Amino acid sequence: MSSFRRTAALVATAGVGLAITFAGSPAQADVDAQRAQRTVDVRLIGINDLHGNIEPPTGSSGRVTLADGTTVNAGGAAYNATHIKNLRAQVKNSVVVGQGDLIGASPIVSALFHDEPTIDILNKVGLETTAAGNHEFDEGYKELLRIQQGGCHPVDGCQFNPTYTGAKFPILGANVTKVKTGLPALPPFWVEIRDGIPIGFIGMPLKDVPILVDPNGIKELQFGDEIKAANKYADLLNLIGIKSIVLLVHQGDQTAANGGPNGCTNTPGPGQLIAEKVSPKIDAVFSGHSHQHYNCTVKDPAGNPRPFIEGLAFGRELSVVDLKIDRKTRDVVRSETKAENKIVTQDVTPDPAIQAVIDQAKTKSGPIANKQIGTISADIVRAQAPTGESPLGNLIADSQLAATTGNGAVIALMNPGGVRADLTFPSSPQNEGNGVVTYGEAFTVQPFGNILQTVTLTGAQLKTVLEQQFTATRTIVLQPSANLTYSWSTSAPFGSKIADLKISGTPVDPATSYRVTINSFLQGGGDGFPGFTVGTAITGGGIDLDAFAAYLGSHPNQAPPALGRITTIP
Ligand SMILES: [Zn+2]
Repeated sequence: MSSFRRTAALVATAGVGLAITFAGSPAQADVDAQRAQRTVDVRLIGINDLHGNIEPPTGSSGRVTLADGTTVNAGGAAYNATHIKNLRAQVKNSVVVGQGDLIGASPIVSALFHDEPTIDILNKVGLETTAAGNHEFDEGYKELLRIQQGGCHPVDGCQFNPTYTGAKFPILGANVTKVKTGLPALPPFWVEIRDGIPIGFIGMPLKDVPILVDPNGIKELQFGDEIKAANKYADLLNLIGIKSIVLLVHQGDQTAANGGPNGCTNTPGPGQLIAEKVSPKIDAVFSGHSHQHYNCTVKDPAGNPRPFIEGLAFGRELSVVDLKIDRKTRDVVRSETKAENKIVTQDVTPDPAIQAVIDQAKTKSGPIANKQIGTISADIVRAQAPTGESPLGNLIADSQLAATTGNGAVIALMNPGGVRADLTFPSSPQNEGNGVVTYGEAFTVQPFGNILQTVTLTGAQLKTVLEQQFTATRTIVLQPSANLTYSWSTSAPFGSKIADLKISGTPVDPATSYRVTINSFLQGGGDGFPGFTVGTAITGGGIDLDAFAAYLGSHPNQAPPALGRITTIP
């Protein structure tokens, strides 16, 4: 690809400047040969939910389970880069794209520098465009614009390199508009040209971003329906003669059974709905967000097949879709599309240029990351039991209560989505066998830097918020501190599932006030818990990670907390 001459032209559309990249052929003989061909092959390589995992992820986050149940270690940006290079070398035309959450909720090696090392690496591997995910908005819209355009962080400055020049790939948000003007807040699409054929990429986050990130950072934005936005821009692209159209959407499905990288074992959910319902003008749907992998073919509204694919998070898989495009119609020959999730195995030579960036980030973050903060006696995992509890979630809730008893807190509740990784024993290669927990490992578990807040809820309001864990579309069981116990009914209707609610063994009284510690994300109503926003007498309680680190420090040889705080009844 490097020999291709590239020029850029600007097309102004929908109030947003969009650059179109032309990839020309190096030799006239080649051009003539291509013209003689009736189709053009283009390979698309998708990355989703990397979450700044430039180093190989550890524990279960660093393994892929194959269809036969065996596992393969996978991930790491230097291996990823080599796999991308190899995949590109096999074909004449390729485009590398992303489906969002490439940054945010990252390990310390990237997060300490506001993910600038990850952007640097994605620039170097030649990512052409990506959808914004929810995590791209973690630090707010203004920070996302800085990530895109460059410039030093307003508070921390340029800590990684002397300058930060921004992402060379556009971060798309076709359903993201400004509240005031209704105009796009991010570019809605991007066009790449291969062998004279334009390919349009419409990208966007899921419409639920407002319940997934700190509401304060996205006040000026509105997140619209994914299908509506996709169809609007598919029509527009079609109108300007772009017939090969790909959707990059940061939304996906859960999987019911282990189907390996290329099984189609998703439980039809919001991802499949989008994949099936968006305009027949869209030829392939790359998805993300659910941290699952699947490789499906769905029927579009006109009855034609198109791929619906997601690769495993943290850079463990690349989603490869090979399109055959008819030169005359400039549209994809759907029956010829091939899709495959490729595992980012660690048996290839790591890309030296990418490794250099990783090494620089490790060196700069090392002294902080490697500091010992505590010890554990066994793995403490975040996997949730059928009751919804997890040992690590319980431990974090305990740490948040301990940090805020000064606020009068009597219980703490933690959103399970904020528990990002397991604490493993042995923890890291250099601490083999001794159960040491480093600051970097704790950071990987709790990377968001949420502020703890203690609010007053009545017993009735507490029950209401616990009922909000269960809705028709999702179950999110909050992780409770040790002294909060209750049971929930698997069969009772929504709104009346909670029973036997007790604090330190005493039944919760509906009219009595209780001080409850949560993080700022939940306090803002995040994860669909509006019940916390009615809390009064809000008191700040420091950063969640600091509470976690302090708790580990004061509880050496910490064992996994027992489950049983929550029970289920029929
Ligand atoms: Zn996401």
